[in-house]
Amino acid sequence: MQYSEIMVRYGELSTKGKNRKSFIDRLGSNVRKVLHDLPEVKIQANRDRLHVSLNGADSDQVVDRLKLVFGIQNFSPSVKVDRTFEATAEMAAQMVKEQLGTTKTFKVNTRRSDHQFPIDTNEMNTRLGEYLLEAFPELSVDVHQPDLVVRVEIRANGIFLSSQTIQGAGGLPVGTSGKGMLMLSGGIDSPVAGYLGMKRGVSMEMVHFFSPPYTSEQALAKAQELTGKLARYSGTIQFLQVPFTEIQETVKEKVPEGYLMTVQRRMMLRLTAALALKRHGLAIFNGESLGQVASQTMESMLAINDVTTLPILRPVVSLDKTEIIKIAEDIDTYQLSILPFEDCCTIFAPPSPKTKPNLERARVYESRLDVEGLMQRALDGVKIVEVHAGEEFLNQEADAFAELL
Ligand code: ATP
Ligand code: MG
Repeated sequence: MQYSEIMVRYGELSTKGKNRKSFIDRLGSNVRKVLHDLPEVKIQANRDRLHVSLNGADSDQVVDRLKLVFGIQNFSPSVKVDRTFEATAEMAAQMVKEQLGTTKTFKVNTRRSDHQFPIDTNEMNTRLGEYLLEAFPELSVDVHQPDLVVRVEIRANGIFLSSQTIQGAGGLPVGTSGKGMLMLSGGIDSPVAGYLGMKRGVSMEMVHFFSPPYTSEQALAKAQELTGKLARYSGTIQFLQVPFTEIQETVKEKVPEGYLMTVQRRMMLRLTAALALKRHGLAIFNGESLGQVASQTMESMLAINDVTTLPILRPVVSLDKTEIIKIAEDIDTYQLSILPFEDCCTIFAPPSPKTKPNLERARVYESRLDVEGLMQRALDGVKIVEVHAGEEFLNQEADAFAELL
């Protein structure tokens, strides 16, 4: 079927009162961004609906991209016909015919935004219903739980028909909740945490710590490629790579083994907070979950949080690993995350970190370091890479690994 437009219904936007306009504007610009390479497509964000006029663009391609945009409840590909009953009936019959296999019952649901049109909603529902019953005697009408709803929208510029409702991504348009800094490793959890934050409207910047030569180019590329996966949900993402080698070497030299992890984490968090301050981030996101590994206890969070007053949000804190993996698979980050290119934490992890570190001790051990100098040098070495939706960074070596997994 050659669709003329996709009619998009807003999610939670409708309940947001006076913020509504900024939410709608943001959704409009986010939709524009994901369709930027299709210049024929026109987007109009109205008070109650958003209309994507295809002007000949491939509807499947547009549908696939809209599915990833937060703030959309659902949407319907629609066909525009002339403003006559005959044209409407003919197209409705064609739509029903395409879905006869799965349909026993149907109903017609009409909305009339143009009250000049002579047929009102009740009359359209009845007349079109009768017409379809006559054309397809095997069908019957069920107004409560029909298999198929034929939607008819009477607008000033035409009548729009649709028979499918495709589930959107839900959530809030990215950008409406402000900016967050995601601590992105190469693991399974932090990309999922980033996705969940974006779903609530946060526009995320990635902060990744890497420690050459202990960590490989591939570990860095993996984190960047994960960013490309996440950028499909938000548009271009800024990837901040922070050199962490000097800090890790110094911590390893000066801090007792049981507190290596805690002090390293405190340094990571301090650096992330400093970057947030510089770049107007309002909160820090990470992929910590409770009880997963030694560093993820509440005692440990207490000993680490100490270095900043910024909110530290942990979207996966209460999820089981299997639940996190399920989301990682859905958002297509899982296969990348399990590639064996280890990040700086894995390599510098002591065999037995303290599961219940003590805050005072952490502070004492840390005071052996030149915290200011280490921070400054790491911040001076930060590089920022702009990562686009779906962008790839890994080389063939990674492909070979992926084949094996
Ligand atoms: P993940 O699967 O996200 O790597 P994890 O279960 O391996 O998490 P940890 O190694 O304890 O857990 O890391 C906890 C969190 O600290 C990560 O989810 C991430 O947010 C952050 N983090 C760890 N390593 C790095 C890194 N190299 N760069 C940026 N953030 C990191
Ligand atoms: Mg990890």
